[in-house]
Amino acid sequence: MFFSSLYIHIPFCLKKCNYCSFYSINWNQGIEGLYLKSILKEIELTKEFLHLLETLYIGGGTPSCLSIESLEKLFVSLRENFKTKNDIEFSIEINPATVDKEKLKLMRSYGINRLSIGVQSLNDRELSFLGRIHSSDDALKTVDLAVNEGFDNISIDLIYGIPGQILKSWKTTLNKLVTRDIQHISCYELSIDRHTKIAKELDSGNFSLPPEEETVAMYEFATEFLESRGFKKYEISNFAQPGFQCRHNINYWSAVPYLGIGPSAHSFIDRKRFHNPSNLFSYAEHLIDGKPAWINDYTVDKTEELKERVFLGLRMKDGVILTNPCIIEMLGSPEYKNLISISGNRVRLTDKGMILSNEIFARVLLHIENCPACKQG
Ligand code: SF4
Repeated sequence: MFFSSLYIHIPFCLKKCNYCSFYSINWNQGIEGLYLKSILKEIELTKEFLHLLETLYIGGGTPSCLSIESLEKLFVSLRENFKTKNDIEFSIEINPATVDKEKLKLMRSYGINRLSIGVQSLNDRELSFLGRIHSSDDALKTVDLAVNEGFDNISIDLIYGIPGQILKSWKTTLNKLVTRDIQHISCYELSIDRHTKIAKELDSGNFSLPPEEETVAMYEFATEFLESRGFKKYEISNFAQPGFQCRHNINYWSAVPYLGIGPSAHSFIDRKRFHNPSNLFSYAEHLIDGKPAWINDYTVDKTEELKERVFLGLRMKDGVILTNPCIIEMLGSPEYKNLISISGNRVRLTDKGMILSNEIFARVLLHIENCPACKQG
């Protein structure tokens, strides 16, 4: 039997956050109608490509800003068109200040069993700098509402390394969160995309990022503190209580086939990668012709496959099995002592290696690019 993963992209947000480079547009009722019509059509057109879903993830944008009627139409269509495993992991991203009891009840009634809540910080100054539409109080109320509605697999997204943020405030955010009944925490370092409002603010010299030692201290504190509270780090940025690792993301990192539906969504099927246009209107136009809106498809060659396996596999705490003696020899050299652990063919980043992961990835990828043996796969 062929198991797989489905991602649905909902491109609406109530307001663009200052650091965000995902495809999202401001919500209004008129474009919600166009989106819904298009996505229901895309589901009809693509259902044959997935046989039995192991994970389903609705992300965005802000899925929870869709109206209750539209959410229900989407859930009905998913139920009618895709077969799912009995123990499917069915996640949806929600943002504080865009959900209420009624929406959460609807989500649960259609089998959503995992919520990913975009909290980002529990410091109001940091939230305002990021351009979030909610306060720390809204975020905690949303977590409590979700717990009260019976969700028992709740993930929280956090950002560290925010201009003006100090270690003390990061500690406060984590300390407040672990008092709640949550099972998974993602801690992402703020990354600056040059097309965002934050990049312009930084360029203007009005703000600066925290010093690197402070950001490293935040990451080290998160690892130590969360592990002491029962959350194991299973990927560079992800911590979970036992049994609550995100199966959808593990499938991505393990190159399991997945289909992405919705504007800008990416897919990987039969070694082919392709994606939908990152524009709701051109996405909708493609679908009018009765064909999936896929563009830029290409087959992943052996070099790229190896690069992805190393890059994605090394992100995970369990590491990756490699059969390329030259990579194992390279990473086994004294230069990588304390950064890499090798046992047989399994290669892992240590906690220290995770801090320097970007530099290590860059070097391994460069090696693969220039090594004739690696290029053969
Ligand atoms: S809510 Fe999420 S997707 Fe929307 S603008 Fe903010 S970060 Fe981007």
